[in-house]
Amino acid sequence: MEYDRNNVFARILRGELPCKKVFEDEHALAFHDINPLAPVHVLVVPKGEYVSNADFSARAPDALVVGFWRAVGTTAKMLGLEPDGYRLVANHGPNGGQLVFHFHVHIFGGRQMSHRMG
Ligand code: 5GP
Repeated sequence: MEYDRNNVFARILRGELPCKKVFEDEHALAFHDINPLAPVHVLVVPKGEYVSNADFSARAPDALVVGFWRAVGTTAKMLGLEPDGYRLVANHGPNGGQLVFHFHVHIFGGRQMSHRMG
């Protein structure tokens, strides 16, 4: 699939749409999900045009891959989720339930997660 430069996260990254920002650096932007599925539900998106995890891990420069995952960790820490724990999810493609085709990681926290996936 080709990257659509007008996907909603690309527009948020360009500042064309608002978001409730949690963290930003040169590698990534983290913001609250518009439709939270947990008391804390934050999305972390890399700065760059990557459709999915496969695309990101294959094409992104090493510095961006490292910087992105550091940003995920920093964001979870800033949200106060470290002591009790949290869940990371990356939906990939149709079977994964991916709706926005700009690679992103969900951070879920603030409640006990079930071991089973829906
Ligand atoms: P996925 O692609 O991993 O299935 O999920 C995309 C996520 O983006 C969903 O949880 C959805 O609620 C969220 N989302 C979709 N549009 C917006 C938006 O305009 N702003 C924010 N903050 N989140 C959005």
